[in-house]
Amino acid sequence: MDYQRLAELLFPDVTVTPEELEEKYPPRKLPEGAKVTRFAPSPTGFVHIGGVYQTMVGERLAHQSGGVFYLRIEDTDAKREIPGAAEGLINTLSRYGICFDEGAAIGENGEIIDRGAYGPYKQSRRADIYHVYAKKLVAEGKAYPCFTTDEELRAIEAADKKAEVKSREWTVETEAAQKAEMRRLREFTIEDVERNLAAGNKFVLRILADGDPEKKTPFTDLVKGKLEIPENDEDFVLLKSDGIPTYHFAHAVDDHLMRTTHVIRGEEWLPSVAKHIQLFRYLGFKPPKYLHTAQIMRLDENGNKKKFSKRDLGANMNDYERDGYAPAAVSEYLLTVLNSNFEEWRMQNPDKPFTDFKFDIKKMCASGCLFDRAKIEDVSKNVVSRMSTDEVYSQLSDWARSYDPDFYALLDRDPDYAKAILSIGRGGKKPRKDYGLWSEVKEFVSFFYDELFRREDEIPASFSRADVKRALTEFADTLDFSDDANAWFEKIKAVAEGMGYASDMRRYKAAPEEYRGSVADVSMFIRVAVTGRMNSPDLYTVIHILGAERTVARVREYAAGIDG
Ligand code: GLU
Repeated sequence: MDYQRLAELLFPDVTVTPEELEEKYPPRKLPEGAKVTRFAPSPTGFVHIGGVYQTMVGERLAHQSGGVFYLRIEDTDAKREIPGAAEGLINTLSRYGICFDEGAAIGENGEIIDRGAYGPYKQSRRADIYHVYAKKLVAEGKAYPCFTTDEELRAIEAADKKAEVKSREWTVETEAAQKAEMRRLREFTIEDVERNLAAGNKFVLRILADGDPEKKTPFTDLVKGKLEIPENDEDFVLLKSDGIPTYHFAHAVDDHLMRTTHVIRGEEWLPSVAKHIQLFRYLGFKPPKYLHTAQIMRLDENGNKKKFSKRDLGANMNDYERDGYAPAAVSEYLLTVLNSNFEEWRMQNPDKPFTDFKFDIKKMCASGCLFDRAKIEDVSKNVVSRMSTDEVYSQLSDWARSYDPDFYALLDRDPDYAKAILSIGRGGKKPRKDYGLWSEVKEFVSFFYDELFRREDEIPASFSRADVKRALTEFADTLDFSDDANAWFEKIKAVAEGMGYASDMRRYKAAPEEYRGSVADVSMFIRVAVTGRMNSPDLYTVIHILGAERTVARVREYAAGIDG
């Protein structure tokens, strides 16, 4: 067969050569060891936590090494594309500190533009480029057209989904039949092609696979280690009948021309590696290094590991925004899952930004990483506890503006008051860890706002009502806001003593029967009267934020509610 002629027949409009493309997209000038990585999502409008997790690997590896991290939009499957998905994705990732140096970006008018010298970065705009290599493969006898009607196409589609079929009812006979069918596709003449083209028939372009599945190719995955992969003997499709490439073909051409050094993608692509190795060889490209990330799993009700499916809470990144996770908490959590030594590093470096952590491929889990809800909440509490008051105020009010407007109005009404509340227990070696999610803050601070204040706890009935009333009244009568914490507490002790309650806890513990109670009980009366709760942060701090008037009013109101 005259392959050159075949190539001209199939791609008459292609005049650009692979050499010209090599020149147009030259190797990048980067320091030794710099990694070029990419995120290559299909814009389906859904940002899965697994995607962010994978993206973090690429972002860390590129930026840690002084390399380039770029975004390529894989929109070859128009049926699945959702308008605005690419924009949404870029915005979501930037929320988590994942920013691209190059690639698809949002332009001034909100449209998707190309930023960088290796574009276009949207596969739908790269048809011309793919066709240059398609033509080359045909001219070298490594790919061939397959003219088929839609019906026939559907019939042989099964061959492309061999693995899928295998898991159902795959027998040796059907496999042999499929292979025979595949071989039959290879049999054609130039005249057949000319006739089909003249009739306006469409073709798919298939690779002419030379692999022997009995033979294995050694392959090293950066996280899964050394593997042996059976060679590919399947004439898989490179170009669909509309001239659009399949993932396999686009991957090889794009990652080569964009000079990707490390392909980081989900482990669902591992079974396709044999095809990719073959394709890189056919095209004369040096294959990139591969890192297949393990799927994120979750635990079901019975404690079994399950795939984190689209519908599970926490799969969609929007869930985290709505529930009020600080972006840094999500990023830190993902790092905890990604690198087994991150937590230890965090303990030793509580104040450093997580980007200072040296991400290490060797510390990645090779399969079935577990997403643990309790753990992410714990990480969030730690992250929020280390934030400054201003940071907390700003993130909390941003969240509330969208998700709890009533609460936002309160926060916005008096920012200084809100900040005083949010500053409780902040700073120092052991900051308080009251809340990890912005959606939890309201519940925690509600007693500071009359509009939200509810009495949740009562003073236990075991205490004499008269004692409670007397303690509260004396406290209100003697409250002097200029007292420092010591003087303030001395007064509470005096109230206790006057009622036959021990003011010294040690003495009380030694002989409780000698007292009606202790100063701790009196403090509890005041706490419940002021905050409506048995537990609250330091009472002196609380009342100094609430103010004298509101404190006294709440205490007197409580006392007044006691009969007798
Ligand atoms: N578009 C592919 C996907 O959505 C990307 C795989 C890759 O990163 O190469 O899974």
